[in-house]
Amino acid sequence: MRITMIGSGYVGLVSGACFSDFGHNVICVDHDQEKIALLQKGVMPIYEPGLADMVANNVKAGRLSFSNDLASSVKDADAVFIAVGTPSRRGDGHADLSYVFAAAKEIAASVSDNTVVVDKSTVPVGTGDEVERIIREIAPDKKIWVASNPEFLREGAAIGDFKRPDRIVIGTENPEAREIMQEIYRPLYLNQSPILFTSRRSAELIKYASNAFLATKITFINEMADLCEAVGGDVQDVARGIGADNRIGSKFLHAGPGYGGSCFPKDTLALLKTAENFATPLRVVESVVTANNIRKRAMARKVLQAIGKDMRGQKIGLLGLTFKPNTDDMRDAPSLALIQGLEDAGAIIHAYDPEGMVQARPLLPNVVFEDEPYKVAEKAEALVIVTEWDAFRALDLKRIAGLLKTPLLLDLRNIYTEEEAKKAGLVYHGIGRPHAG
Ligand code: NAD
Repeated sequence: MRITMIGSGYVGLVSGACFSDFGHNVICVDHDQEKIALLQKGVMPIYEPGLADMVANNVKAGRLSFSNDLASSVKDADAVFIAVGTPSRRGDGHADLSYVFAAAKEIAASVSDNTVVVDKSTVPVGTGDEVERIIREIAPDKKIWVASNPEFLREGAAIGDFKRPDRIVIGTENPEAREIMQEIYRPLYLNQSPILFTSRRSAELIKYASNAFLATKITFINEMADLCEAVGGDVQDVARGIGADNRIGSKFLHAGPGYGGSCFPKDTLALLKTAENFATPLRVVESVVTANNIRKRAMARKVLQAIGKDMRGQKIGLLGLTFKPNTDDMRDAPSLALIQGLEDAGAIIHAYDPEGMVQARPLLPNVVFEDEPYKVAEKAEALVIVTEWDAFRALDLKRIAGLLKTPLLLDLRNIYTEEEAKKAGLVYHGIGRPHAG
């Protein structure tokens, strides 16, 4: 199959590389000239484990290329995927679909007959209908079908997720489009990944409903963590206890500083906007969004309370800035709200992140960036673990205790125990766990 991917970001680039690895011929297009120039030189514009090798192998095999020229890249394609960004529209929380519609217009002008245009971006219900209308208006005589194929990969584990998905969702009621999509995903189907064919609208909704459900699970365990702190329970035991029930499942039950990232915050908001438009309130999701926003701000108060003194001009060390490990993505990371809260109290933040500092720098102009974890701890009033990178899981806690001005460790990801921290001479605060003081 000849596939063109419009948008070569976290989703487009990974999907394009994986499709070429299946044996398809793929062109990844982006209007960002710098991104394409880097890719053409073999340099990855994002950090994603395993991606550089996969791209290099498939470029070498002649199955994968990169281009700024959308028109010539879509001309002979069997399928054109739209994988452009759909951020929150400034001010109102609706998904900004301007990139999707702009791509649709460009595709319609240049694509040939018998092509399926597949929306991979996360888009509100009905967007496929509008994309189809745009294409019909510009190219009324061409045989083009519009399908929805939402993406469920997670940054940091994107290649594994793409190649071994729990399910593939394809929204189309058109037999020709269905056949092309089946052929594209055949290698995964042979691998026993279930393909779920639905209507286009159901496929669009499945993506938002999945993300809203996962955000709900995270928020639920975070609130249980607060209750554990109040009553003297341990949220990790509670999570294990409820997660062992197959009806609940153990994933997404890790208490922490609140969900963030490039998807959950914007997708929950966009889903609420859709619900509003159709006069069908989603009270559960509304509460999740509110609780998560409050939690992100509460994390700064938690740190300040644990330190318990005036922080004006005092140093706090932070480990981890990205919204989760193994990515460089800083979009809506909980660290941003936490740092804002600490800086509002007058603290000076020193931080280290293994991959996120390039993206973090412009977002955090007052933060002092260090090049390793121990410098972050030096003469600080507290060390706060915000993202659970593997590199932070085996720190020399004794050394940390010696470097800190006050030996205080706030572990917002529960990667250490109070016992081991105490042994190293640190006062420890986790999330939702009993604290001996
Ligand atoms: P991204 O910002 O990393 O990438 C989008 C790319 O599209 C950018 O490189 C941009 O330059 C390019 N682009 C925009 N308009 C274009 C146009 N007209 N022509 C060519 N290129 C264009 O975004 P992302 O994280 O890859 O997300 C893409 C979509 O996938 C979003 O809808 C997102 O919600 C969804 N999604 C993301 C993830 C994730 O983990 N990042 C997971 C599942 C779904």
